[in-house]
Amino acid sequence: MIIVLRQGHPVAVAQVTQELEEHGYQVLPVFGVEKTIVCAVGGDEFKNVDFLEQIKAHEFVEDVLLITKPYKIVAKETVAGRSVVDVGGVKVGGDEVVMMAGPCTVESEEQVFVTAEAVSKAGAKILRGGAYKPSTSPYSFQGMGVPGLKILRQAADKYGMKVVTEVMDLRKIELVAQYADVLQIGARNMQNYDLLKEVGQARTPVLLKRGMTAKYEELLLAAEYIATGGNQAIMLCERGLRTFESHTRNMLDIGAVPVLHSLSHLPVVIDPSQGTGKRDLVASLSRAAVAAGADALIIEVHPNPDHAIKDGPQSMTIPQFVDMMPTLSKVAEAVGRWMATGRAVSVGE
Ligand code: PEP
Ligand code: MN
Repeated sequence: MIIVLRQGHPVAVAQVTQELEEHGYQVLPVFGVEKTIVCAVGGDEFKNVDFLEQIKAHEFVEDVLLITKPYKIVAKETVAGRSVVDVGGVKVGGDEVVMMAGPCTVESEEQVFVTAEAVSKAGAKILRGGAYKPSTSPYSFQGMGVPGLKILRQAADKYGMKVVTEVMDLRKIELVAQYADVLQIGARNMQNYDLLKEVGQARTPVLLKRGMTAKYEELLLAAEYIATGGNQAIMLCERGLRTFESHTRNMLDIGAVPVLHSLSHLPVVIDPSQGTGKRDLVASLSRAAVAAGADALIIEVHPNPDHAIKDGPQSMTIPQFVDMMPTLSKVAEAVGRWMATGRAVSVGE
C-alpha cells in the first residue's frame, strides 16, 4: 500500500513506519519535493483491514492507496479464465446465455405449470418463482412457503427445468435447498452477512442479487462471504439501482456486466424485470444485456400479469416472452454466444 502524508508533521514518518512494521510490513519512505509517501509491502492486507482504517484515521495521513483488492477468492486474478456455474447440467458462464424465467411469486399450481411449459418451450432452462417473498409492506403477500416450493419443483421436473428461488431466512436454507437448484439471495439481503455465511456452507449454487444501493465492491465482498464458506458456485445478479429517476422502478446498470467481468471471474446475470418495473422495457434491456456480455437473464413472466399478486406491471405476458426469445438469440450470436430459443408456443397450445 502507499500512504500519502500531510506536510508539517515531523514525526509522521517514524510513527507510521513503526506501526506498519509491527504489522509485518516492510517500509520505504519516499521524500518528494511537495509530498512524502510511505510505501509498505509484505503485510497481509486481507487480515489488516481494521488496522488500515486506523492508519487512515491519523491526522497526518492524507490518503491510503491499496494495491490489492479487498476481495480475494472472487477476484478475477484468482482464477485463469471465467468460472462456469453448473446448475444440474445447465452451465452458466460458458458460451450459452442461459434464460431463467417464471413468475415473480408462486400463486397456484396452474399459474406455475402454464408458465413453465411456455417459457421452457421458448428456450428457458431455469424456472424462477418466489415461495418466500421479501415484501416492502408487511401487509403484502409473503409467499406460499413449502407448498410453493413443491409446485416449483414439480413444474420444473415436468418441463425439464431447474429451479431458482429465494431464501430469506438462514433457518430455512436446508429446506429450500431440498427443492431448489439455485438459492437466490435477494437485493434486500445482500448485506445479511449471517445468511451469506450460511449459504456459503451449502453446496447449492447461489444467485446473489446486488443491493439497490450497493457498490460493485460491496457486491463482490458479499460474494466473498459466501465463497469463504466453501461455496464458490456464485452468480452475481444486477437488478437495478435506486436513483433520482422515478419513471422506472429502478435504473438497470447494464455497465455492471463488463465492470463485474473485469473485476471477478464469476458469471453475471441481469434481471431486467426488477431493473425496470415495466414489462414493455424488458425485451430491449434484455437485448442490451446480452450484447453487453451477460451470462444469463432472469425474467418475470406471468400468464395473466394484470391479475398477478406481485410485480404484475413488470411481468411479461407469455406472447411477449415468446416473441423476445429469437431476438435475444440473434444478439447472442452477434457477440459470439448462443441462446436456446426452442419453438414458439402460445398459451393453451
Ligand atoms: C424478485 O426476484 O422477485 C425480487 C424480489 O428481487 P430483488 O431481490 O432483486 O428485489
Ligand atoms: Mn419480483
